[in-house]
Amino acid sequence: MSATPRIGILGAGGRMGRILIQAVEQAGFKLAAAVERPESSLLGADAGELAGIGRLDVKIVGSLEEVVKDCDVVIDFTAPVATVNHLKICREHGVAIVIGTTGMNDEQKAYLDASATETPVVYAANYSVGVNVSIKLLELASKVFGDTVDIEVIEAHHRHKVDAPSGTALMMGEAIAETLGRDLKQDAVYHREGYTGPRERQSIGFQTIRGGDIVGEHTVMFIGEGERVEITHKATNRMNFAAGAVRAAAWVVGREARKYDMKDVLGFNDIQV
Ligand code: NAD
Repeated sequence: MSATPRIGILGAGGRMGRILIQAVEQAGFKLAAAVERPESSLLGADAGELAGIGRLDVKIVGSLEEVVKDCDVVIDFTAPVATVNHLKICREHGVAIVIGTTGMNDEQKAYLDASATETPVVYAANYSVGVNVSIKLLELASKVFGDTVDIEVIEAHHRHKVDAPSGTALMMGEAIAETLGRDLKQDAVYHREGYTGPRERQSIGFQTIRGGDIVGEHTVMFIGEGERVEITHKATNRMNFAAGAVRAAAWVVGREARKYDMKDVLGFNDIQV
């Protein structure tokens, strides 16, 4: 890895893009390029001024092709079609790419996998270091408690969120189910009302709270006889995603062409629990 990786931000004018520009600077790395849609009214603006951190002398451009040679790695939080196009350019130039875009279909995911045979790709549905550490702790707790406790996942988000449970709550449920050899499709319980009968030990329960401006909170309870363990993550703003993605970008520069995730970035595979 070079000491100060040159990082390009794709979707620089978006909600995540602006925070990613801040995160690159906070981490002491070099913002090498900032890219927006070719028809964006932001082209030509200074990326630092756009992100509210003062002039950086990096102009927003309308295509990755223009700046790819200036980058060791790019971070892409855009939209699926744009991400596929960015993957194509990165694989042609052998530039590493960190992808946060969600909602890719199977064909787009297959293209991502194919690209990762030619250039390093990090992909994670959630770049928060805290969420990924929480998931590791959930795996530890699940392994130790086994079938001796009841497990419930409780999540809370702002009133504008349109899906439930959150993708992160489902990631947590999947990690628990996989550790315990359960199948989330069969064992998840999303609703309880009326005469439910006693709780099945195998169930993994999900409770959803929606209201106000809650950024995102997840608690998993391991509920036994006479004691209870709770593992909680609370997000207070989107910087947690951006900081994790910048950490992934610095980590992936110079690695072999492969698809990586946050477990690789955070070195979880080397930690025995
Ligand atoms: P947003 O709509 O605010 O920003 C997306 C930006 O990408 C926009 O500015 C848009 O103009 C730009 N864009 C679109 N096509 C482009 C192209 N061809 N070239 C350059 N720029 C292009 O959305 P957002 O809230 O910033 O989220 C972006 C994506 O990141 C979404 O898919 C979201 O779900 C995902 N996300 C992932 C994580 C994670 O941890 N993995 C966290 C937050 C958001």
